[in-house]
Amino acid sequence: LILDKFFSPNGGIPDQKDFKVTTSKFDENKPLEKDQILINLEYISVDPYLRARMQGVHTFVDPFKLHEPINSGCVAKVLKSNCPRFKAGDHVSGYFNWQEKQIVNVTKEVVKVDPNLAPLPHFVGVLGMTGLTAYFGLVLIGKPKKGETIVVSAAGGAVGSIVGQIGKILGCRVVGICGSDEKAKFLKSEFGFDEVVNYKSSTYEKDLKNACPKGIDIYFENVGGKIADPILFLINKHARIPVCGTISTYNAPIEKDIGQRAQYFIFSKQALMQGFLVFDYSEQETNEALKHLSQWIKEGKLKEKNVIFKGYDHIIEAFTKLFNTTNNTNIGKVVIDVTDQ
Ligand code: NDP
Repeated sequence: LILDKFFSPNGGIPDQKDFKVTTSKFDENKPLEKDQILINLEYISVDPYLRARMQGVHTFVDPFKLHEPINSGCVAKVLKSNCPRFKAGDHVSGYFNWQEKQIVNVTKEVVKVDPNLAPLPHFVGVLGMTGLTAYFGLVLIGKPKKGETIVVSAAGGAVGSIVGQIGKILGCRVVGICGSDEKAKFLKSEFGFDEVVNYKSSTYEKDLKNACPKGIDIYFENVGGKIADPILFLINKHARIPVCGTISTYNAPIEKDIGQRAQYFIFSKQALMQGFLVFDYSEQETNEALKHLSQWIKEGKLKEKNVIFKGYDHIIEAFTKLFNTTNNTNIGKVVIDVTDQ
């Protein structure tokens, strides 16, 4: 699956017609060079950051190349191997092309995954980029202390739903923000959030205040824009704000007016606001985070819900739905299952 055109800096919502599915002959019998594997894709992750790679310029990530396969975090089955780390039949995760079969040069990012530890889609979610993002932002930047109040936006999304659960594991009060009452109910009953507030409600500000009677110690920012405003009014002295992403801005034009008052709240509460990228953390930090995430999964304290779309024909529908705020029923990590292709 390839990207057919870049989006203009004036924004734009990705649409099916901006992408093309192409078919080309693939020689499965081509001999593998040293440290190469032949793989068959099984699960594909769609993520908001891919939109930034469709901009045609370097933003916080490099742009895709036009008319070449798009890639993202995936799980695949090894069909043939010329690398001592893998054998045929193994499942591996890594950043692979959205292409049924492919030969991959093995790097340290390509890792064997254990289907006995968790269902395979979890390795692009809670045991992959999503879980690591939640862990790094909340634990390493937010530094939660028992009894503190954490607020997380896009709480029903892949990252937000993990942040909320880690917050509970670490003994905090967790308040989520999301776009529907159904999601709010689910996050409380299934993931143990203490309160969840609907940002579309006319009583959003009041609801948020009621949900945070002791103020906010950590705001895990996933959305940006208007919904973050009332949060800043409630932050406590020495609050921490890990800025994970701003999904509300990704399809919008880059504006010159970036708001004037937010800094006042950071300054007056001596708060820390820090942006971060999951890819910037070291191998040691990644292994440490994965150790905790796997342990919590084994203990049944951390769960992931997947929204599964089936087949290559549904990738773009799944991807564009990430940005849809009207009647978006997705809860958890969106994954495309291409095992039957
Ligand atoms: P998901 O795609 O799982 O969640 C998307 C949800 O965000 C939607 O279901 C919707 O839920 C909500 N949303 C979408 N647009 C808006 C909007 N305009 N206003 C308010 N809510 C909106 O996202 P992820 O969990 O994968 O990612 C969450 C954030 O984390 C993103 O900003 C992403 O870019 C960032 N990220 C950052 C990383 C890093 O290294 N810093 C790595 C991975 C992700 P609702 O129904 O509640 O509106």
